[in-house]
Amino acid sequence: MSENKSRNFIEEIIEEDIRNNKHQGRIHTRFPPEPNGYLHIGHAKSICLNFGIAKQYNGKTNLRFDDTNPAAEETEYVESIKEDIRWLGFDWEDREYYASDYFQQLYEFAVQLIKAGKAYVDDSSAEEIGKMRGIPTVPGILSPYRDRSIDENLVLFEDMKTGKYKEGEKVLRTKLDMSSPNMHLRDPIIYRILFTPHHRTGTNWCIYPTYDFAHGQSDSIEGITHSICTLEFENHRPLYNWFIENLDIFPSRQIEFARLNLEYTLMSKRKLLQLVNEKIVDGWDDPRMPTISGIRRRGIPSEALREFATAVGIARRENVIEISKFENIVRAQLNKIAIRTMAVLRPLKVVIRNFSSELEWMEIVNNPEDPKSGKRKIPFGKEIYIEADDFMESPSEDFFRLTLGGIVRLKSAYIIQCEEIVKDKNGDIEYLLCSYIENSRSGSDKSGLKPKSVIHWVEVSNCISATVRLYGNMFTVPDPSNYEDIHSILNKESFIEISNAKLELEMKSANKELRYQFMRKGYFFQDKSSTSQNLIFNRTISLKDSFLK
Ligand code: ATP
Ligand code: MG
Repeated sequence: MSENKSRNFIEEIIEEDIRNNKHQGRIHTRFPPEPNGYLHIGHAKSICLNFGIAKQYNGKTNLRFDDTNPAAEETEYVESIKEDIRWLGFDWEDREYYASDYFQQLYEFAVQLIKAGKAYVDDSSAEEIGKMRGIPTVPGILSPYRDRSIDENLVLFEDMKTGKYKEGEKVLRTKLDMSSPNMHLRDPIIYRILFTPHHRTGTNWCIYPTYDFAHGQSDSIEGITHSICTLEFENHRPLYNWFIENLDIFPSRQIEFARLNLEYTLMSKRKLLQLVNEKIVDGWDDPRMPTISGIRRRGIPSEALREFATAVGIARRENVIEISKFENIVRAQLNKIAIRTMAVLRPLKVVIRNFSSELEWMEIVNNPEDPKSGKRKIPFGKEIYIEADDFMESPSEDFFRLTLGGIVRLKSAYIIQCEEIVKDKNGDIEYLLCSYIENSRSGSDKSGLKPKSVIHWVEVSNCISATVRLYGNMFTVPDPSNYEDIHSILNKESFIEISNAKLELEMKSANKELRYQFMRKGYFFQDKSSTSQNLIFNRTISLKDSFLK
């Protein structure tokens, strides 16, 4: 690790463990998603952390699906999770595991606890159990079933497993500490009856371990040395350590860090699912979604996501990251790689009276940030489109673009002057009649004129129509997670579709992997549904500063 970068607290723990030769210096992490939704930018943080740490210390990372809850889990989610992790640039090699693969082993762990007198079958209802648990400051009440004999518990648990009881009729609990101020230690439930088929084990089981009984033990089974998770599991750690001790299994060490929270961004899978189910968005990969698939479809490069995950650092306390931090990283990345092109989103035709009917070829730099990207020639002609809002009939004082009688420079071409406005019968502007200044060609301008603005344009007979989609924040408030009713905070202008934008003709064969900068309009990326017959571009992000307004 480089000298000038200070270590975060997780790296410090790991380096100390390596110094002490703990687990023979072996480092093994895991990323443990529950396949009940698509991954989001918060998960990306966790993926980068777990895979990053392993890479840094020559270790390994497992992908483990925490699929202990049969009700919410689906194979579609498993597939999307794998695709997203690969796209982020990480590889779990052959270490793809499922908590459900350990159902037999977990069941045996439960039997082991019963045999040691440390677990019992409870006939109380969920409501009764909840009441008896009490509150942190007052000890709970012991269940009347707590002192069942080991033999009775073994029989009852076996009967639970063979389907003798209905859901909710019985649960298995640890016999732990009903007066602990840590509620997680008050005889937590470790097995419950569920007749829902599981996405992998089908109807093999009708009892399922709770998350708390499965998660830590799965880490131990896999020999995970450092089990990195988010802060809400801090209070679960004593329970996980109790299991490790009482089952005498591999001592994985849990380390908690603060989850990533981002302004204007919802990270609750439940609420993201609601957006999908209510069709408020166009699926999990809607470009407004904070999901990795949405981010990908929007055109944000995976490098930007990885850089962001590192830049936000590892915190021990909850905090909220400003959205501008993410946006700046995305812009900086795209600025380096995007091909510059001219695209007129809301076209206004300009006829240049004194220009010949022949095309003239202008040179334009593909990407000023990347000398290797070279230059190309674009046609200029008698008829061009400019952006409708680059012209004002009755200009305000701070308007420096084209006006009647005024001049403006066309990017990489000539200076033009507007002479006449041609309107249709409704009084709407149909086109502008302009003239160009002959000796003002970019690169060899001898006109001596100093227009205040440079605007973009495309030549009418050498352009192609496209659909362009602009996106804004999905929510009107910076803290959407604080609102239970998401409808009240939806930004109605988070999606604008423009159906008749005009792009340079060569965009017809635009590469679907390439990022483009539509000059003055932002960074764009082709939608997954875009074809050369029907081009659709998503705006990844606007430009912060457009050149010479
Ligand atoms: P759920 O409420 O469904 O449990 P979850 O976001 O915790 O939602 P998991 O699939 O359990 O989803 O998460 C997988 C891993 O990603 C966990 O280790 C979790 O701690 C981590 N993770 C989830 N959200 C964030 C976040 N916002 N920042 C950092 N890590 C996160
Ligand atoms: Mg979770």
